[in-house]
Amino acid sequence: MVPVVYQDGHALLQRVVCGRFSNNAYVLVCRATGEGLLVDAPEEPEKVLQALQGVRVRAILLTHRHPDHWAGLASIKTALHAPVGIGEADADGLPVPPDFVIADGQVFPFGRLALRAMATPGHTPGSTCFLWGRYLLSGDTLFPGGPGHTRTPQDFRQIVESIRRHLLVLPEETVVLPGHGEGTTIGKAREEYALFASRPHPPDLCGDVLWAG
Ligand SMILES: [Zn+2]
Repeated sequence: MVPVVYQDGHALLQRVVCGRFSNNAYVLVCRATGEGLLVDAPEEPEKVLQALQGVRVRAILLTHRHPDHWAGLASIKTALHAPVGIGEADADGLPVPPDFVIADGQVFPFGRLALRAMATPGHTPGSTCFLWGRYLLSGDTLFPGGPGHTRTPQDFRQIVESIRRHLLVLPEETVVLPGHGEGTTIGKAREEYALFASRPHPPDLCGDVLWAG
């Protein structure tokens, strides 16, 4: 059973939990036209394809280059015949070259609806978040309680800057749906970040950082 995140007369947004790292693939469908988008292509592609039955997929969008987010890409692409896109700085991290690179602010229509991409480097150089209405698909950039993993202090400063400038400015009721596990809201993330920002931190901070840590 695929959990339905959001549904009304116009649209359907499904979260499909896949594989040993509990990756979330997100399926967005315009109900009026049956056109849709897929965000991320993890292992257990059959679960994703099941959720996409009857949907004409306009594009497969990847949040970033880490293998757990594209482990099912080959079979999903073969089944759907849809073009694959990823942020330019992550484009060389895929097993096959993408069909297009995603620009900051690029809009992806599906039927009468549309999704907007935001470049949010830090977890990887080409990490991208996607905003649809009051839903933010945040990849491995923002999780409940903290930012995604970073490998260097520079990457950590960059992910915080991405989150601060592009994500925390969204309306507080915006629902954050990350690439793994459960979601949060921008309002909650803003409160958590404010606490973090009010305290001193070592200059070499990076890794798995919690705002409350
Ligand atoms: Zn990742």
